[in-house]
Amino acid sequence: MRTAIIGAGIAGLSAAYELEQSRRSGAPVEYRLYESRARLGGSIASEVVNGAVIEGGPDSFITEKPAAAELCRELGLGDQLTLSNDADRKTYIVVRNRLVPLPDGLMFLVPTKLVPTALTPLFSLRTKARMALELLHPPRSAGQDESVAALVERHFGAEAVDRLADPLLSGIYGGDAAQLSARTVLPRLVEMETKYGSLTRGMLAAHQQMRARMSAAKPASGAATKPAGPRGIFTTLRGGLQQMVDALEARINPAWVRRSTAVTALEKTAAGWRVTANGAAEDFDAVIFASPAWAAGALLEPVDRVLGEELRGIPYSSSITVNLVYDESQLGRLPEGFGFLVPASEERSMLACTFVHRKFLGRTPPGKAVLRAFLGGMKNASLLAEPDEKLVATVERELREILGAKTLPAEARPEYAQVARWQRAMAQYAVGHQDRMTRIRERVAALPGLKLAGNAYDGIGIPDCIRLGRGAARELAATLAAVER
Ligand SMILES: Cc1cc2nc3c(=O)[nH]c(=O)nc-3n(C[C@H](O)[C@H](O)[C@H](O)COP(=O)(O)OP(=O)(O)OC[C@H]3O[C@@H](n4cnc5c(N)ncnc54)[C@H](O)[C@@H]3O)c2cc1C
Repeated sequence: MRTAIIGAGIAGLSAAYELEQSRRSGAPVEYRLYESRARLGGSIASEVVNGAVIEGGPDSFITEKPAAAELCRELGLGDQLTLSNDADRKTYIVVRNRLVPLPDGLMFLVPTKLVPTALTPLFSLRTKARMALELLHPPRSAGQDESVAALVERHFGAEAVDRLADPLLSGIYGGDAAQLSARTVLPRLVEMETKYGSLTRGMLAAHQQMRARMSAAKPASGAATKPAGPRGIFTTLRGGLQQMVDALEARINPAWVRRSTAVTALEKTAAGWRVTANGAAEDFDAVIFASPAWAAGALLEPVDRVLGEELRGIPYSSSITVNLVYDESQLGRLPEGFGFLVPASEERSMLACTFVHRKFLGRTPPGKAVLRAFLGGMKNASLLAEPDEKLVATVERELREILGAKTLPAEARPEYAQVARWQRAMAQYAVGHQDRMTRIRERVAALPGLKLAGNAYDGIGIPDCIRLGRGAARELAATLAAVER
C-alpha cells in the first residue's frame, strides 16, 4: 500500500512513524511525507540558546491526555519528560494594569469556592452576586450549539466572559469566546447544564464523585496508600519539544521524506489518488491530509467540492510568540507563578505572558529569566505584518506597564529576543463545529483511502494531533490487513 502524507507537523510525522512501524513489522507499506517547508515539525519549533530552551511554538502538552507522553516513551525520550512546576502554579489576569490572581477553586471557568470568589478583586460585587445565584440555575435541555461567551454569560454574566473565558481561551486557542463552540470546547459544562442546571453544582458533584471513587480505590487493609506524588498539569521535554520532532524524523525513512515540496494538486483516479508536487505526479492507494484544513480543502475541492468547502470553512487564527531572555540581575522581583493573561478589554497587543523559567524548572540556566509573550489571535491578526523590532519593543513596553518599572526597569534589555510568527496555524472550533464534522466525516467515508489528521478536527493540542495522526495510519494499515486476509 502506497500512502501520501501531506504535511509534516506533529500529526503527519506521527502518521509516518506509525506506517514505518507497520513496514518494519513486515507489512507491504510505502509512504511519502510531503512538507512545503524546509524543516519538519510544523508549529513545533524549539531552539536552545546559551542553555535556555526557547519554544517558538507550543511549549508543552496537557499531562491528562496520554498520547504525547506515550509516544515520547516509545521514542526513548521517557527520561526527558518533565512536569510543570505546579507547586508554584499561579496565574494572573490583568485588570487595569494590575495583576489579579485567578481565585482559588476555579474549575474549567466555574467558581466552586465561596470565600475566594467572594474576596477576589477580579469581579465586581454584581458579578459575585450573580455567581452565588447561579446555584439556582434551572436545567436546560441541550439544544443548538452556542458560543462559549453565550454559555458563560448566561450563567455568570458579561464580566466573567471578559475577565475569565475570553482571556483563558485566547491564551489557548488564540480564539474568541464569542466564536468558539461551547459544545466542542466545553462539552463537560454543556452536559452539566442539562443535568444540574447550575454549573457550580455540577462541578461540585463531579468533584465529590471523583473523591468517592478515589477513596473506594484505597486498599481495604487500611495500609497507607502511596501519595499521588507531585503532578504537573503540563508536560514537556527537557531539551524542548523539538526533541520529539527530531526523534520521529530519525525513525522514518529519510528517502521517503519530501521537504520544501508543497503538494499542489490532487486527483482521484480509478485505482486511488494522484498527487502532484514540484510539477511531478505520483500515484498512491491512500492519502493522509495532515496539513491545515484550509490547505486540505483547497486541494480536495476539485475531487469533492462540498468537502473542500467544508474544510475551508473551518476558521484559523494566526499568532506570534516573542521570547525574551533576561539576566535576572537586570530585573526586580517577578510576581510568583507562571504568568498572566490579558483580557481584550485592556486593549493591548499581548494576550498572555509566561514566566518560562518558573513553569518548567531546569530548562533555563540559573540566573536567567525567560518571558514569553503570546500575541495576535482572532482579534489582532494584523500584528503579524509588523517587523520583529517593533513587536519586541511593543512587548517590552507592555511588560513594563503591566509588571511595573521596578520589576522591569527601563534600562533592562533582553540578552536575546526571538519572534516566531504562526500564520493561520491554529484551528478555531466555531459554533456548529460538531455538525460540520459530521458532514465532513460522511464525505470522507465516501472517498476510500482518504484520511484527515491534525488540529482542525478533534482536539487542538499536541496529544490530539498525535492520536489522530497515528489513528489515521493504523486505520489504513488495518484496511490493508483485511484485504490481504
Ligand atoms: C504559538 C502556538 C502555541 C501553541 N501552544 C500549544 C501548547 O502549548 N500545547 C499544545 O498542546 N498545543 C499548542 N499549540 C497547538 C499545537 O501546537 C498544534 O495544534 C499542533 O502542533 C498542530 O500540528 P499539526 O500537525 O496538525 O499541524 P501543523 O503543525 O500546522 O503542520 C501542518 C504542516 O503542513 C504543511 N503543509 C501545509 N500545506 C501543505 C502542502 N500543500 N503540501 C505539503 N505540506 C503542507 C505545513 O507547512 C505544516 O508544516 C500551539 C500552537 C501555536 C501556533
